[in-house]
Amino acid sequence: MIAAMQNDQHEARRVLIRGIVQGVGFRPFVFRAATRHGVCGWVLNGAAGVEVHAEGAAERIAAFLDELQSEPPAAARISHFDVSRVTPEGAASFQIRASHRDETPTALISPDLAVCADCLREVQDSGDRRHQYPYINCTNCGPRFSIVVRLPYDRANTTMGAWPLCDQCRAEFENPLDRRYHAQPIACGRCGPNYNLTHGDERIETAENAIRRAAELLCEGAIVAVKGIGGYHLACDARNAAAVEALRTRKFRKEKPFALMVATLEQARSIVELSEAHEPLLLESARPIVLAPAKVALPGVAPDNAALGVVLPYTPLHYLLFAHGAPSPLVLTSANRSSEPIAFRDDAAKAQLAGIADAFLTGERPIARRMDDSVVAVRKGKPFMIRRARGYAPAPVARLPTGGPIFAVGSDLKNAVALAVDGEVFMSQHIGDLGDAETDEAFGEAVRDLLAMYDIDPEHLTVVHDLHPEFRSTRYALALPARRTIAVQHHHAHIASVLAEHGLLDERVVGVSLDGTGYGIDGTIWGGEFFVGSVRGGFERSASLRPVRMPGGDAAARFPVQAAAGFLHEMAGLPDMNQPPFYFPPRFFAARDLLAKDVRSFVSTSAGRLFDAVAAILGFTRESTFEGQAAMWLEDQAHARWPQSPYPFAELDHRPLMQAIVDDRLAGRDPREIAAAFHAALAEGVARQIKRLCRQNDVSAVALSGGVFQNELLLHAVFNETEDMRGVRVFTNERVPVNDGGIALGQAVFAAV
Ligand code: ZN
Ligand code: ZN
Ligand code: FE
Repeated sequence: MIAAMQNDQHEARRVLIRGIVQGVGFRPFVFRAATRHGVCGWVLNGAAGVEVHAEGAAERIAAFLDELQSEPPAAARISHFDVSRVTPEGAASFQIRASHRDETPTALISPDLAVCADCLREVQDSGDRRHQYPYINCTNCGPRFSIVVRLPYDRANTTMGAWPLCDQCRAEFENPLDRRYHAQPIACGRCGPNYNLTHGDERIETAENAIRRAAELLCEGAIVAVKGIGGYHLACDARNAAAVEALRTRKFRKEKPFALMVATLEQARSIVELSEAHEPLLLESARPIVLAPAKVALPGVAPDNAALGVVLPYTPLHYLLFAHGAPSPLVLTSANRSSEPIAFRDDAAKAQLAGIADAFLTGERPIARRMDDSVVAVRKGKPFMIRRARGYAPAPVARLPTGGPIFAVGSDLKNAVALAVDGEVFMSQHIGDLGDAETDEAFGEAVRDLLAMYDIDPEHLTVVHDLHPEFRSTRYALALPARRTIAVQHHHAHIASVLAEHGLLDERVVGVSLDGTGYGIDGTIWGGEFFVGSVRGGFERSASLRPVRMPGGDAAARFPVQAAAGFLHEMAGLPDMNQPPFYFPPRFFAARDLLAKDVRSFVSTSAGRLFDAVAAILGFTRESTFEGQAAMWLEDQAHARWPQSPYPFAELDHRPLMQAIVDDRLAGRDPREIAAAFHAALAEGVARQIKRLCRQNDVSAVALSGGVFQNELLLHAVFNETEDMRGVRVFTNERVPVNDGGIALGQAVFAAV
């Protein structure tokens, strides 16, 4: 009788847990929870995720499953938790079983994780056997995506495969109760890889001495190439203006801001203004570079920029460098020349960086794929992705209604590609601007990588590309042996990326895309667009900035005075732009000649070029040395005198706006006030259109996207100006960039609906 009653209570459940659940300490966590709750059964890594079999009294199983969902390991991300009732197997204990190896892998690979507090404690503890060991890691921390060569995620399939475990590491690896149970990159100073230093003829083989010497060299003003997680960085003392200047000269990087690594959060607080939203971002395991308002001036680090990019140490090596006295803040920038992708293979790095770095601090662990640091800002109190790479890729960014597989190649600038499998969209790390041999190679690697990782046969793919027929990404897409191929208009993709992030795929919206350039459906260049519609029903272009004839092709994006020529062409009574206060260079007049003769000019509604033109009138008459530089300069000017009452910008017509700006400039008004009044005009004009289109079309959701919305003043002003619309919600991108780095997600959407 008693036995029967026990039998009544003895139930069993099978659970499939999907998401980022492998390589993050999930199985030992399940094991420990089962032991604590007195549940029998097993756990294993399946191809689709973690499978759990639980037997015992119903209430014990319930409590156990509850804990699995509510307190998973820090680095785990559960996307599905499917429970079914099964027949008890009569298990008498709880076991960790061997993995299935025969199915198609769809389990997610974890992004790289910053070193955890436990490992940091050990690395600093002189009694610990991993004292000072720069490759210390455990199941809660360390490299993941950057060391995976193929799936499943086992040591032999990572770049750690070459280092057999010593007895002590093996014992930890095999003990379910150890923090390093099945930590694939596990290693120690006895059995694992190490760091060394070369500095001219000087060569130091032991890690501790190598790191100490590197710290010393940095203090002396040297530029040191440091091998990290996704590639090499170039480091130098941020307070040493001569070192920073030398780095700029050698790297051919004239003005683009450098990021700073600071030793501690306290120090971050002392150099940038951190809000409540900034601090958790800095501490996140993804360890992005966080953009925040500068509190100090560091010559040459971020010229003409009110913000600084700051990152906390994320590898044990970074902590050890600071512990050995490396200066903080350190400039820490991707090791490359100008626009090339980050160097990540040792031989190539040594060759590429020969004239740049004074010394090399090189780790022996190979990097499987290159990965830049991610860059995140804060907008409206929330994280706002600027560059998505290390720490975030390849985690999924959105869910789509259909299964796929869909492959989206993105855009040619700030390229990232996306793969949708089982309705989950995975995005590659930031790849860069396509067009040079190195970046094109990185693009090919990322494509092969994603397809191989999820074992996708290209012939089953729906491939999505930009409408631009001349894009390299388009040509690449068309050459793939796909099942079908779709072209998506650039700004439609921008808007769809916002809708995918916020689960608004069925919603009719007003979409506003303010951007550099994109190929329009009518064959002209778009970039200041207002759409009404939905992903399913299609978007109608309901308004745009007033079109302008732009002289001289792509160069208009590099030379703000050339964009100014386009906007000023129709202006009656234009003053002599050669004279003060304008001092426009000859390029402006050559561009005007092109327009007068109507050669090599094209029609554009680009918002980016409008910013360039205004920047030129206010004094930015030189060449832009990186994309968006003139616009960033203009925002910085405006910031200093914000707010101002807006210039006229009715019906998105730039003519009265430009007239007012030229007049005020001639009248001697402070250019910073003019810049602020321009931002106010744009925000007001955009908000007015949004309100009109929402009202006329009875729409209650708005999506803002496109690179121009990286502008904090503008984005916040548009949010403020539309706040009074009752029942209307305004969205923008958060997890993927508003710039072209988010395009691939938007493209994928159109293949899924
Ligand atoms: Zn750890
Ligand atoms: Zn070992
Ligand atoms: Fe764009």
